[in-house]
Amino acid sequence: MPIYKAPVADVLFLLSDVFQVGRYDNLPGFADASADIREAILSEAAKFCEEVLTPLNRAGDREGCRRHGDGSVTTPEGFKQAFKQYGDGGWMGISAPVEFGGQGLPKTLTVAVNEMMGSANMAFSMYAGLTQGALAALILHGTSEQKAAYVPKMVAGRWTGTMNLTEPHCGTDLGLLRTKAVKQSNGSYTLTGTKIFISAGEHDLSENIVHLVLARIEGAQPGVRGVSLFVVPKMLPNADGSLGRRNDVVCGSIEEKMGIHGNATCVMNYDGAIGWLIGEENRGINAMFTMMNGARLGVGVQGLALSEVAYQNAAAYAKDRLQGRALTGAKFPNQAADPIIVHPDVRRLLMTIRAFNEAARALILWTALQSDVAHHSGDDKVRQAADDHMGLLTPVIKGVLTDVGFANTVLAQQIYGGHGYIAEHGMEQFVRDARIAMIYEGVNAIQALDIVGRKLPKDGGRALQAFFGEVSAYMKTQAADETMGPYIGPLATALGHLQQATMWLMQNALAKPDNAGAGATDYMHLFGLVALGYMWCRIVQAANAKLAGGEGDAARMKAKLVTGRFFMERMLPETAAHLARIQSGAASTMELPAEAF
Ligand SMILES: Cc1cc2nc3c(=O)[nH]c(=O)nc-3n(C[C@H](O)[C@H](O)[C@H](O)COP(=O)(O)OP(=O)(O)OC[C@H]3O[C@@H](n4cnc5c(N)ncnc54)[C@H](O)[C@@H]3O)c2cc1C
Repeated sequence: MPIYKAPVADVLFLLSDVFQVGRYDNLPGFADASADIREAILSEAAKFCEEVLTPLNRAGDREGCRRHGDGSVTTPEGFKQAFKQYGDGGWMGISAPVEFGGQGLPKTLTVAVNEMMGSANMAFSMYAGLTQGALAALILHGTSEQKAAYVPKMVAGRWTGTMNLTEPHCGTDLGLLRTKAVKQSNGSYTLTGTKIFISAGEHDLSENIVHLVLARIEGAQPGVRGVSLFVVPKMLPNADGSLGRRNDVVCGSIEEKMGIHGNATCVMNYDGAIGWLIGEENRGINAMFTMMNGARLGVGVQGLALSEVAYQNAAAYAKDRLQGRALTGAKFPNQAADPIIVHPDVRRLLMTIRAFNEAARALILWTALQSDVAHHSGDDKVRQAADDHMGLLTPVIKGVLTDVGFANTVLAQQIYGGHGYIAEHGMEQFVRDARIAMIYEGVNAIQALDIVGRKLPKDGGRALQAFFGEVSAYMKTQAADETMGPYIGPLATALGHLQQATMWLMQNALAKPDNAGAGATDYMHLFGLVALGYMWCRIVQAANAKLAGGEGDAARMKAKLVTGRFFMERMLPETAAHLARIQSGAASTMELPAEAF
């Protein structure tokens, strides 16, 4: 059975030493999340993930979800008890406001816990993740009555949430959606239409399911400007908060799919279901974006989570599996062969995954911290800068971490040879589970277009200039430190490539938008590499400081210096290839007529 050990020490190092979270103690919740509390929460979450969720992962994949004739859905054995434990343990509400029964702690902690849950059992973690997304939208856009009716029960894990965007003919292009909402005399709406691919749309884990649904109010204009957001509970709540009658929404079928078998992917039929508007009419996309930004960060976390658990298993296998001899002569002459970890190519695979994971975790936590600042800082300028960071980095995290996270599960599978392809070791499940993260919450092509088409030009390029400014200023502060030379030099080259790519797009994509479309994915990955390279510099700087101070685990800190060097020497140079592809423009991509394909 696959193993999993939650990276608690790494998260604590990143929070305390790299990002020095103590600096944020002026923000609500941060002072309460002292070093001791952080360690206690993360260690407890680790225990839950390692002991409860990990053992359910393979069994859940094999058993899958089952739909019954009445439209009800049963999740795999053990999920229900585990979800109760999750709710009772207060995990859903770590960062939810205290007034709704949450613990009011930084969102950063929830994000760290979500990585562990995703590694341990991605299918299970989605029931919680979607609820957190729905909570964010309700808290920000709901009326006080809506908040009172739904939020405390969702925070307690008694009710769960979903997001209903997709329809059979309408995926990426939400402007096409047809689900219809008709206003009733009492202010509510009736919703009619079919939504497909709805994660956690029906299941047996909670007393009620709160669907957030995009629909078009009768008579509203076509396109995304005519789309509104509604809350449509499976069970209609009575005025006293108890459960009333069943609403007219039912799961018509569940999909057979490649992975995440423990998560029910449902066709949801709305047949005059009662719902209430969230936010303003025709502003549904805006309200949904609140949910989607959090969810996109969450999906990026899934990319890392799968890459991490695949790495841990591959590393253990590489130390155990005996095949061949080291090129430099037998390392274990008393054994029939050396363990495959002696082979440079196996090392290449392991180091590639590891060097990505550690920096990706830093990038996620850094961005989660900015999300806390964006929500809670009292200083307008600071809040705006944090919001800019979120807007710019969220699509990078979603797109890059899921593309590379999936690729890394394949690299980890490769370390098992044929044993990775068969089901016994669980590696093929990681590959299958990781694949969806590149598709849902906006396919990765859309993340790339979001960066190039919207985020770069937004506010005259303010967010991008701030990012360039931060990385450049950081490099200057490190210029005199010789030990940082092997890291700062490659980062400077990579940043130069990103700046050249940005300039090229500004000069060549406005008049010819295909140049932007053809280069967008390369630009996103180029951006991701620079951001990860910057994270590695910060990690190395903090590791150096710990080593100089004689603190902490010296072997772990020295390993960071080596892993960071591997990233700089063997991964960051890919920025040059991305730049060359972007600068080649769209001509060869677009020249063939459609009939030629
Ligand atoms: C397991 C699973 C769970 C899901 N969970 C949910 C959920 O909970 N709620 C929900 O609402 N939806 C959910 N989805 C739906 C998912 O978000 C969509 O599948 C996704 O947004 C893509 O839409 P589509 O499948 O219609 O593909 P299409 O939009 O038809 O896209 C097809 C291809 O064309 C490309 N493409 C399309 N438009 C453009 C463009 N403008 N520029 C460049 N390329 C483009 C895409 O990249 C893709 O490669 C889920 C899907 C799956 C499979």
